[in-house]
Formats: sequence, C-alpha cells, structure tokens
Amino acid sequence: MNKFITFLLLFIAMTSNSYAVTWVKLRDNHNSKLMLDKQSILEKDQLKRAWVKLEYKTPQKNLQPTEKEYNQSKLLWYFDCPAQKSATAQVFQYLNDDLVYSAAIDIKSAEFIEPVPETDVDIAMRHICMKAKPATTTPSPKKPTEKPAELPNEAAPPVVEKPAIKPEVKPIPDKTIPTQKKVTQTNDWTYEGKEGPENWGKLNPIFSTCDAGRNQSPIDIQNTTHASLKPLRLIQRYAVNDIVNNGHTIQANFKTGNMLILDSTAFLMKQVHFHAPSDNQINDKSYPLEAHFVHADSKGNLAVIAVMFKEGKANPALESLFTQIPHKVGEQVTLKSRVMASELMPLNRSYYRFSGSLTTPPCSEGVRWIVMKTPITASKEQISAFEESMKHHNNRPLQPLNGRVIVE
Ligand SMILES: [Zn+2]
Repeated sequence: MNKFITFLLLFIAMTSNSYAVTWVKLRDNHNSKLMLDKQSILEKDQLKRAWVKLEYKTPQKNLQPTEKEYNQSKLLWYFDCPAQKSATAQVFQYLNDDLVYSAAIDIKSAEFIEPVPETDVDIAMRHICMKAKPATTTPSPKKPTEKPAELPNEAAPPVVEKPAIKPEVKPIPDKTIPTQKKVTQTNDWTYEGKEGPENWGKLNPIFSTCDAGRNQSPIDIQNTTHASLKPLRLIQRYAVNDIVNNGHTIQANFKTGNMLILDSTAFLMKQVHFHAPSDNQINDKSYPLEAHFVHADSKGNLAVIAVMFKEGKANPALESLFTQIPHKVGEQVTLKSRVMASELMPLNRSYYRFSGSLTTPPCSEGVRWIVMKTPITASKEQISAFEESMKHHNNRPLQPLNGRVIVE
C-alpha cells in the first residue's frame, strides 16, 4: 500500500476515539512510565498483541528518520509467547499530545526477536504471556469475534490488522506456563556449581540458546581478517545515572542519549557492566577486567562495545563507580559523581568486530560485538574492589567460533 494512504488511514484511526481504554502501569522509573492497554490484548494465529504507551519524563529524540522530539509513544507490540519473541507493528510518537511521527509494518513481514531481559518489551511480554487467553483475563461480555471490543482505542488499525479473527482463541500450550514462572526469577543461574555455565541451557527453556546456539560469546579473538572497518561513530554526552548490583555484575545505567552509529543504525547506549576476569580474550590473553557497553537500536537489536583493562594506573571513572558499588544484590544507587562513557574507553578506537551473543542467559544471538584493541588500565585495588563485591568470578568460558569471521 502506498505510504500516503497508510499514513492517512492511520491518522484517521488515531483520531477516532471510539473504544474504551484501560491503561495499567507495568513499570515506572526516573526516566519513563510503561503502560499497557488491558482492553487491547488480543490473541490470534498463535500471537498475542497489545497496545502499550511509554510516557517519558523528559523529551526523547527520535533518531531516525525525523530527528523530532517526543515525550510519549504508543506502540502495538506482538508477542510469540511460546518462542518468547516479540515484534513492533505500529509506532506513534507524540510531543505534548501532538503526533510527530508514525510508522507501521505488516506483522507478517515483521522480524520477531527475543527481547533483552528487563527491557520494556520484555516486561510487557512477561505480563501478557503470563495471562490466560484474553477472554478470561479481561472479563468482557463481548466475544473475541466482535472486533470493536478487542481493538484498542484510538488506533484501531485497519492497515495492519485483518478484520477476521478466529472465533476459537487458541489456548497457550500448558508447557509454556512453567517457563513464564521461571522468567520472573532473574537470579536462577550462576557462574559456578549446578546452575553454572555448563548447565545454563538446561536450566530454563528460554535459556536453550546457551546450549544450542552456534554464534555464542565470549570468544578468543585470533586469526582475524583485515577489512577496512569504518571509524567508530560514538556520541557520548550523557553521564551515568545510577549503579546497580544485580548479583551477576555491577551495572551502571546511562542517562538516555549516548549512541553508537553502526551499519547506518543508531544504537542507544543503555548501560555498562563488568566482568572479572575478562569474558573475551585477545590472542589467548585474558585480562583482569572487561567492560561491556550495551547498546540497543529501536528494534531491540544489540551492539556491545567491549573494553579490556590491564593492571596499571587507577582509572578515575572506575574509582567513582566502584566506591559506590551497592553491596546488597538488587540495590540501586544514584551516582554522586559524573562519569562519562569516554572515560572508560581508550583514545585509540581501533577495534575487532564479529557476531556473537549475550554472554549471560538467555545467551541471545545476533549481538554485534565491537572489542576495542587497546586495553586501558585499572589499579590493582580497583580490580580487587570489583572482585570482592562480586564474591565470585563472572566470566563465561570461551565459546567455539563455528566458522565465524572476526574482522579488524
Ligand atoms: Zn557482559
């Protein structure tokens, strides 16, 4: 369908307020609030879908393609609950209730991906997939076949949705229920013992990629291929906001706005966390500490920049971070000093690049890995401070390359 007609239909859909909306809050933090329209939950063709709304406390920059600011998004998210994957079908962005941007794709051509744990999509997926079929969760006198009752409010989407809904709503297979229960436990894996890396893939069906994956991380970087890699394009204007001890690592969350432009796509910097000793190795060499800067694009694709630390001069940014390490697992503290990502990266930005996975469960693949060639230094005391706060090593054993190419 031509873009203009698509837009026009969406606009008409957006401006007709014909259905009742029931927003329920799923998450609220210093940055934004995630809401779900309970009335919009619908299940068909083995997919569940719902409208969600994100309200931001400060305006966000739309990265592509309009560069417009917005402080509210409404999104139509689809979930393949048994596969634990999701896709976005429609996006509407508003600045103070004015529509500034919209986009839609046919869900049949959308790419379903595993959401990053604890992100908004992940939170929404757990909420929606845990529910029984809509008819029982949202007591409604109307049957699922009656379209108006099931469609969301202002965005009844004639473009993406096919009006015909199967009269029989397929129940979720029972086997997914224990999975869903387990998903909520984020600490059900460890680096040692019965729940250690050798068994990650068996601990939980959604961790199966840890075993079955063929492009797993970390790796030993050697036998690289020379290519003319473009210089890294990094925008790093925003400091760390808070630091959290999640039991697996110490993670520092950045204020929104830093980004990595890779493959003509903007990846927003989310957080940096640490591994000791290093997860990856370079030419058989392990480092005492490795930082992972996790970036995600608007579709949830991930890019991680890794920086190795060798023992030497103290790093001032690490000092600020590590003196505020929360010792209780789950504790989150606001950082008192200003720490910029650039202070935790080498000046020489030459890098290795390869495709890999998360190095922790669920070990999701398709992660673009950028490993900086040049290590920076951390003092012996700083490295010990991190090791002591973790009380255990937090590196995963090296994974086979399986024919992957590492370019530099
Ligand atoms: Zn990591």
